[in-house]
Parts: sequence; C-alpha cells; structure tokens
Amino acid sequence: MHPLAKLDHQFVWHPFTQMHNWLKREPVLIVAGKSAVLRDLHGREYLDANSSIWTNLHGHNHPKINVAIQRQLKKIAHSSALGLANEPASLLAEQLIQAANAGIHVSRFTFHESCAKPPRKSQIANRKLEKVFFSDDGSTALEVALKLAYEFTRRTRAKSVGRASPRAAEPKFLSLTGAYHGDTVGAVSLGHIDLFHKSYSGLLFQTDKVMSPYCYRCPFNRAQPERADAREYRQCHWECVGLLEKKFALQKQKRNPYAAFVFEPLIQGAAGMIPQPRGWLRRVAEIARSQGTLLIADEVMTGLGRTGVAALVKARIGEAMEPRFHKRGYGSTLFASHHEGVQPDFLCLAKGLTGGYLPMAATLTTQKVFDAFLGEYNEFKTFFHGHSYTANQLGAAAALASLDILQGKPSIRARQNLEGKLHDELQALWSLPNVGDIRQVGLIAGIELVRDWRTRKPFDLRERAGIRVCEAMARRGVLTRPVGNVIVLMPPYCTTPVQARKMVCAVFASICDVLGKL
Ligand code: PMP
Repeated sequence: MHPLAKLDHQFVWHPFTQMHNWLKREPVLIVAGKSAVLRDLHGREYLDANSSIWTNLHGHNHPKINVAIQRQLKKIAHSSALGLANEPASLLAEQLIQAANAGIHVSRFTFHESCAKPPRKSQIANRKLEKVFFSDDGSTALEVALKLAYEFTRRTRAKSVGRASPRAAEPKFLSLTGAYHGDTVGAVSLGHIDLFHKSYSGLLFQTDKVMSPYCYRCPFNRAQPERADAREYRQCHWECVGLLEKKFALQKQKRNPYAAFVFEPLIQGAAGMIPQPRGWLRRVAEIARSQGTLLIADEVMTGLGRTGVAALVKARIGEAMEPRFHKRGYGSTLFASHHEGVQPDFLCLAKGLTGGYLPMAATLTTQKVFDAFLGEYNEFKTFFHGHSYTANQLGAAAALASLDILQGKPSIRARQNLEGKLHDELQALWSLPNVGDIRQVGLIAGIELVRDWRTRKPFDLRERAGIRVCEAMARRGVLTRPVGNVIVLMPPYCTTPVQARKMVCAVFASICDVLGKL
C-alpha cells in the first residue's frame, strides 16, 4: 500500500463511511484533477460523475477560478466578518441578490394541468431577497435559516396575536418525508431519514413531516410500472398535495400555523433523488403562503444551475426557444425554485457556491426578516450567530468567478447540451430488468435499482446493491456514490458528450456485472 494511503488508514475517519470496510482495501487517493477528470496517486484517471459530492460545477482546476483565488491570495486570505467588511464578500452579496431576484418564471408552462387551481403569481413570487448571511456549508446555511425563521416568527406573531395565543411562542417547522438538510443538530431536526437521524432523536427538537411526492413508490399511484420516469405515467389525484393541505389546516386549527416549510425544490437529493411532478412546488408554496408560513428553500444541491436552464423546461413541452439572456449576457434562472415561479423567504446555498473549490455558504432572505432583528443595542435584537470563517475572502473570490462563468453564454449552452446528452444516454438503461426508475432533473440523474422492474421490489440495504454497482463503476474509471439503491450521476457542467456516454456505459456494465450475480 502507498505510504499516503497507509497514513489515511492510520489517522483519518471518513464521513458517512463504515470504516471497518474502508480499512480492508487501499483507498483511491486523489492527487490532481482537471475538468471532469480526477487522477489518483498511481496515475489512474477517473471521471468525477458526482461532481465531488455535488459540489463541483465547472470542472476541476478551472483557470478562471484559479486566477481569482490567486489574485485574492496576493491581497489577503481571510479577515473576520465580525466587526469588519471585505471586498469580495460585498461584491458577492450584491451578485447573489441580483441573481436571486432575476429570472423567476411564472407562466403557464411549468404548471401541471391536473393540479387544481393555478396559483396566483402575487402569492408565490412576490418576495424580494435583499440580504445575505454567509456561513460555511450546507448545514450551517440551513441552521441560519432555521434560527432566523424561528426568531422572526416569535417576534412578529407575538406582536400580532398578543397574549391571546401562548402557542405563538413555539414556532413549528414542517419538512418532507425523507428530508435531509445537513448534519448539525438543527438541520438534523428537520431531517427525516431514520438511518441517519434516529439515533440522535434525544438531541433533536420535534418537527413535523409530510408526504413528499415520490411518484415511483407512491401508495396513491395506481399505474403499473412502465419503462419511463414514474412522474410521466403516474395515475393519481394529487393525494400528496391533499395531505399537505390537511397538515397545514390541522396546524392552523391549533392556532399556530407552521412557522416555516422547509423543502428541496424540484428534487430531493439524499432522500434518493426524488423529483417532484411538475406543478407540485407551485401548489404547495401557494398553500404555505396562504397560511403565512415562511418558505425555506434548501438549494444546497439544486441551486446554481443544477436543475437545468429554464428555457429547456419550455422546450420540453413544445415551446422551443433560446434561453433568455439578461443585460450582461446573463442566462435565465439559476435556482430550482424559480423554475416553478416560487420565490422563497430563505434561499440556502452552499456546495457549488464556490464552484466546488472552498467551503462557503449563503442564506438569502428578505428585508422584512432583516428588519425584525433591528433595534437599539440594549434591546438585544441582534442575530447572535456567526462563524469564524464567515464571508471568507478566498471563498468569496472563487464564488464571484464561478457566478461569472455560470451566467455566461458558453456555460448555459454547455448545460443545455449536457442535459440533453445525459437524457439520451440514460435511455439505454431501461433495457435492464434491475432498473426500476430513471429520474432526471436538469443535470441530476438518479437510477433506482430494483430486484425486478415489473414488481418494483427493492433490494435490502444490507445487500449493498448501490454500493457494489458504484464499486464496479470505479473499476471502470467512473466515480460516484449511491444514495441507498439509487445510483447518482451528477456530472460537472464541463463534461463532454464522450465522457457523459462513458459514465452511463459504466452504470450499464456495472449493473449487469453486479446485479446479475445477486
Ligand atoms: N442540504 C442538502 C440538500 C444537502 O444535499 C446537503 C449535503 N449533501 C446539505 C444540506 C448539507 O450540506 P453540507 O454537507 O455542506 O453541510
């Protein structure tokens, strides 16, 4: 074993990893990366098919981001945001606010015909995001939103209901089944994945959950399995929306409407790459808003172009058109919520914010929330929260460069092309009996492995079907991690058509190899 690998074995404890298994074999130890390719210390090359756990946007070693960091490094790496402002963080906040208020598409094309009552634009898109609170990663971006929503609700509701409702002092949160919003204690409280979260229940505060629209395994979907994305052939009456409506109504009866509804827009990641049928998000956002509930959009995975170029959504339903370009040559929306015309009260970003270079996160919110924390010093309305590396200059410089690339025409076109290519390549997988569902949203694809597609019978987690398929993919030079029995493909935006093909071919061959034997 290479000496560096030995050091890893001796000293490093890896996240979300059964170390007993890890210690049995030499790890892949990465020493370099270029575009979509990673190289290990033996010189072996791999395609980074999950963008280094969903963080990398434009590929590794991107010249523009490299230069931006190097330039910033010549000035200063870090100074504290507690008591000091800095250049790149101020510029980045402005850019994020501009991007977050541009490109909300509220028109009929994303609304599903069978989802009753179209929402009114004013209810779901009338928020303007005006303030940015920086932190370090996805979990902290959610913690910030959670604490702000909690305290905002306490302060504003206490005022409006006076002493009449003591319950107003206990803001309640609602999130989706299968939700994952990070690993810090607040974020875990919002989560509903027993495998990860149950053991910590004693540490957590209670939140409510409501059915997420997992069409492939939905008990209300009466359709027999087909060789297509379950959202397309499902037969239901939007019972999931009905349940959600009931949940909100019930909470309202207790004279304590939910303080906030927390969701990943368009697709839930760690829940198993579970996409929402078109129209779901708009409808539930409208229900939440009608109750005065704040919307917390966790766009840690979905944000920054991951869910596709908005114009492509139009093209798919027969309104083919070029992406809209804004004044500076900017393309259309970067955020999943905007694909359905929803502007949240809190927009949480991390992972791809720096293009996958440095840990940095941002929680965007409204002037109204900000104002609730204003007062004289001795009123102690301050938001008492912050981290040592908040608004770090190197991270902000990388994020500025990444945003610039992201909003330029070449990146928008590349994303459109890659989404189409990925879609075309994935079709080959329907021929495999162990592929139950293939779900693609923009540049995210989840392939659910099953015993037999006709019965949708799942593999037991103990069989490690997903893990084994990914191990076989690694032997073919393609790296990704499964979510349970779902194989994830989430390539960097610079991935070439040949590389996209190689990724899907590796999935195909590895499923044949591994599941043929299970
Ligand atoms: N929210 C979502 C949707 C995520 O996918 C993740 C991480 N996978 C997080 C929050 C937590 O982010 P981090 O690991 O950066 O804390």
